[in-house]
Amino acid sequence: MANILSEVSSPNMKDTYRWRELLALYCDSMIWKYRGKDRTPDEVVEQLKIFEVKAAKIGKKFKTKKSQSLLKEFIQLNYDIVSIKRFYELNQTAVYKILKKHDKRTHLLASEGFPKFARDETFFKDNIVRSLVYQISSRLLTVIPNPEEYYCPICREISYKPIRLDCGHLYCVRCLMKAKRLNIRDCPICRKPDVVYNANKNNLDVKLMHKMKAKFPREVKEKISESRNEKAKEESEHLLQMYGYGNPNQCAIM
Ligand SMILES: [Zn+2]
Ligand SMILES: [Zn+2]
Repeated sequence: MANILSEVSSPNMKDTYRWRELLALYCDSMIWKYRGKDRTPDEVVEQLKIFEVKAAKIGKKFKTKKSQSLLKEFIQLNYDIVSIKRFYELNQTAVYKILKKHDKRTHLLASEGFPKFARDETFFKDNIVRSLVYQISSRLLTVIPNPEEYYCPICREISYKPIRLDCGHLYCVRCLMKAKRLNIRDCPICRKPDVVYNANKNNLDVKLMHKMKAKFPREVKEKISESRNEKAKEESEHLLQMYGYGNPNQCAIM
């Protein structure tokens, strides 16, 4: 499933951004857990139904049939996991009842130790359920590339073009140039001396730059136009200052 998902959400496919939106919705829905506690199977089903309705709206916009059928599979997978969860909980109750009955007849009080036993024994823990949910949330969700992983720590936007300092930290070229102008010499994160000062065009991470363009075309485009606007603004401010207009925000005539 993770493979199909990475295929339908790959950059040359049209549904990448819809899948990202969908999986963000999935995470926000807190289907399996709420405030750090596992939900009961009934609660999970309730949350899944709400998610299903919202997901269908995004699903309508899918461009490929594959994405549509994958969404169905994805939701079904969640319902299947609830069934397993329910089965485990029933099992646990059943064993407890059997032990109680046994106690009545034998006076051995085996059931007293049961709750602790149930907590400790891996068989009764809904380990399978947990690991399945974990697999969905970690594997499946990380298949969809997340631009936040490539954010510049200064401007909190995608680090395009990406400058990798000698300490290994990543910044966008715009923030790096600003830092240089402010005579900052050390890495703002790890404080390694002179890595900002020494950075030059060789610090451009070309491989990552191509990867970003392919994976996050929208964010990269936005960032390029933003940088361009900012540069134009800086240049006009610089020109105004050169011609003696001082603060460009002030009216030149007054
Ligand atoms: Zn930046
Ligand atoms: Zn650093």
